Amino acid sequence: ALSLSGVRHTFDTRLVVKGIDLDIAPGEVVCLLGPSGCGKTTLLRIAAGLEVLQEGSVSLEGRTIAAPGQRHVPPEKRSVGLAFQDSALFPHLNVLENVSFGLKHLPARARHEQALALLEQLGMADYAQNYPHQLSGGQQQRVALARALAPRPQLMLLDEPFSSLDARLRDRIRDDTLHVLKKLGSATLLVTHDPEEAMFMADRIALMRDGNIVQTGTPRELYCEPVDPFVVTFFGEVN
Ligand code: ATP
Repeated sequence: ALSLSGVRHTFDTRLVVKGIDLDIAPGEVVCLLGPSGCGKTTLLRIAAGLEVLQEGSVSLEGRTIAAPGQRHVPPEKRSVGLAFQDSALFPHLNVLENVSFGLKHLPARARHEQALALLEQLGMADYAQNYPHQLSGGQQQRVALARALAPRPQLMLLDEPFSSLDARLRDRIRDDTLHVLKKLGSATLLVTHDPEEAMFMADRIALMRDGNIVQTGTPRELYCEPVDPFVVTFFGEVN
């Protein structure tokens, strides 16, 4: 489980995250939704440890991993999986080696099996021996997702992981990814600006505007019981 409490963040003198509280249970997918520039990526980067926490606290499975005055814990020391819109693969490693990369603590055989199982679930097992430059953008993105998921992280942080894919492919990959996330039981924070994606993926949506969370709830709650006109406008585009 992830717990963010009173998180605030300033760039230069500008407050861009204004005191966010958010809890995500194991196996739960929470979509952080909101317009460009509202602070979604910054919040995700704070949870990941890619930004040093300034104010508030972050805990994972009940353990505080970031708090003021506490030594910064970098991403590789947190049990987090990360995938971004255009995650770069290691160009000199083949697909299987890319996905096995985070599994160095396992014996070779287990590492191989765990990586291959993920590639199968994301429809990329046939490409295990290929190199990144031999793959399409969509295939590379599947491998990047498999690489993030392979270590079975307690927390998955996904930032617009499907937005560079064409529409037809996107539905399949969303489906496959959701399936794996549910199976692993990771707490998942998925950043998107697309209400339709949030409706499809989320157990709960946290809708952000200008550094604050306006409403948190199930997709149905936000759609049927919006707390203010901004929520209505934002979902107005979804049919
Ligand atoms: P988008 O959907 O466009 O990615 P976002 O909701 O993820 O937007 P953030 O990337 O978190 O928004 O940015 C929030 C605000 O903080 C923006 O106004 C952005 O310009 C600013 N910002 C982000 N990173 C930095 C930085 N490293 N230095 C200064 N300002 C930054």
